[in-house]
Parts: sequence; C-alpha cells; structure tokens
Amino acid sequence: MPTVTKVRKERSASGTHDHIEGVCTSGGTHYTRGQVIAGLARHEDWHTEAGGRTAKIRKIDQCTHPGCSLTPYITTAPDHTTTNNLDNLPPC
Ligand SMILES: [Zn+2]
Repeated sequence: MPTVTKVRKERSASGTHDHIEGVCTSGGTHYTRGQVIAGLARHEDWHTEAGGRTAKIRKIDQCTHPGCSLTPYITTAPDHTTTNNLDNLPPC
C-alpha cells in the first residue's frame, strides 16, 4: 500500500495550469500518474499522508481544470481534508 508524500507537477500543454505528472512515495520512489492509475486498477491502496492524516487516491475521468481534456487523472477523495490534497503536497 504505497504512501504518497510528495507530488511532481508539469505545465499543461496549454500553459494555463499544472498537471500532476506523478508522485513520490515515503520511500523516495517516483511513480508516474499512469503507474498510479495502473496500480489503482489492480486494486492497490494508494493514499497520501500529510500532517498525520491520510487520504485515499482515486482515478477520475479527466483533469478538473475548465476546458482541459487530459484523461485519465488522479485526485484524493473529496471528503478528506485539503491538507492531503495531491496538489498541496510538497514537490519531488
Ligand atoms: Zn488539465
């Protein structure tokens, strides 16, 4: 059950916002967004950990930025504290 503590971002093709390119786990290993999604498809438990709290990572159909159609994409469950939001994790 990978614990994600950092996130790597890249600029969108349109240059208007950032995308989550991938994540880094507590062990320091980098995984691409595609690798995370493949793991979720295998029913692996991917979650973030920040400030002593955890949040489950899930796949969503596409980036939530208006007008962006990048698909698929990942986010944390919306009912968890924003402390654990993938976008708010430190960079790696
Ligand atoms: Zn986007």
